[in-house]
Amino acid sequence: MRILVLNCGSSSIKYQLIDMDDQNLMAEGIIERIGENIALFTYKSDKYTVRKQELQIDNHENGLSLIISTLIDEDKGIISSLDDIDAVGHRLVHAGENYADSVVVTDHVVEVMKECVSLAPLHNPANLKGVEAVSAAMPDCPQCGVFDTAFHQSMPEKAYLYALPLEFYHENKIRRYGFHGTSHKYVSLKAAEYLDENIEDLKIITCHLGNGASISAIDGGKSIDTSMGLTPLEGLMMGTRCGDIDPAIPIYMERRLGLSVDEVNNILNKKSGMLGLSGISNDMREIEDEILKHNNPAAITAHDVYCYRIKKYIGSYVAALNGVDVIIFTGGIGENMPILRELVLRDMDYFGIELNEEENAKFTGDIQMLSTEASKVKIMKIPTNEELMIAMETKRLLS
Ligand code: ADP
Repeated sequence: MRILVLNCGSSSIKYQLIDMDDQNLMAEGIIERIGENIALFTYKSDKYTVRKQELQIDNHENGLSLIISTLIDEDKGIISSLDDIDAVGHRLVHAGENYADSVVVTDHVVEVMKECVSLAPLHNPANLKGVEAVSAAMPDCPQCGVFDTAFHQSMPEKAYLYALPLEFYHENKIRRYGFHGTSHKYVSLKAAEYLDENIEDLKIITCHLGNGASISAIDGGKSIDTSMGLTPLEGLMMGTRCGDIDPAIPIYMERRLGLSVDEVNNILNKKSGMLGLSGISNDMREIEDEILKHNNPAAITAHDVYCYRIKKYIGSYVAALNGVDVIIFTGGIGENMPILRELVLRDMDYFGIELNEEENAKFTGDIQMLSTEASKVKIMKIPTNEELMIAMETKRLLS
């Protein structure tokens, strides 16, 4: 079964064609800057590569046409016709409280995505464009979707309710939803498989640390708490997002500093986090470079705050889970930054957490066990693969 996985952003389409018979990645790429003067097209397969070709692509439909025509091109392509694509799997973002599982895309799903636009004003309209483009280009091809919020629908009320007047939940659906669900689910399942354990028997804490970052407490395969909230702004410190702050701060900024709602929104989402605290970059590689080469104090402080926040969340989730068997690091930062993992896990021997420093310092692209033999808690690095998870879910739903 060949599945085209699409991740549609407001001006981009990331795609992978995966042969699910052997989980082989046949082709992948991205179109960026859709609708701008010059769009950029990237494509990679064993047979043919395009690196950032400049083109004019006005909308998602044209973008999808370009992807399809390249995939089926007689010389450069890797399939002979559209019929060789058995299904499309979409990365979708917000379904509110409507779905706790992946879905086959129906009119009802489209309605739900439209209803939830107010909860994800940037992402849901882009996801809708992707679904519409596939319906137009491949009307007979089944489409499935994996919502980022779905995996966290298992959270109990005590974890998802904010202590606001209850009508804001009942009437406006203001509550914690959580994101990165596909990644948290994928790496927790991978851990169970690697350890040859039943996921139902494991208490897992997953740290997804990329540009966006979130952490989840997973009990027996079900998410029981997660750090992102109504939006992806809550929780850990991120590349440019502030994460947890006193909720009175935005009010203070508006009332006392005279900033507009849009300015505050922009500061909290785009100018805070690593970028804001360090004044250097949102990119953790640049921050660690500054620390290692120049002992830059602002970089050291930002890095310390980043790690301390993760440590605090791990502690609170150990309490929520009443113990932990496995702590997983994933995402660009979680997978590639040993110094950061060491700082997060330092001085946690009270919990029986003991990092194997030698193993932690190695770089491999595979799953790695990072804890010592004696450690009560297993520490693992697991490369995430949200596209493969979406393809696996699509295959499961259609089989
Ligand atoms: P996104 O949330 O955009 O998917 P990623 O998971 O790619 O983000 O993570 C990006 C972050 O990971 C950046 O801060 C980057 O510095 C850091 N990083 C460290 N090493 C690598 C690497 N080898 N490849 C990609 N990102 C890396």
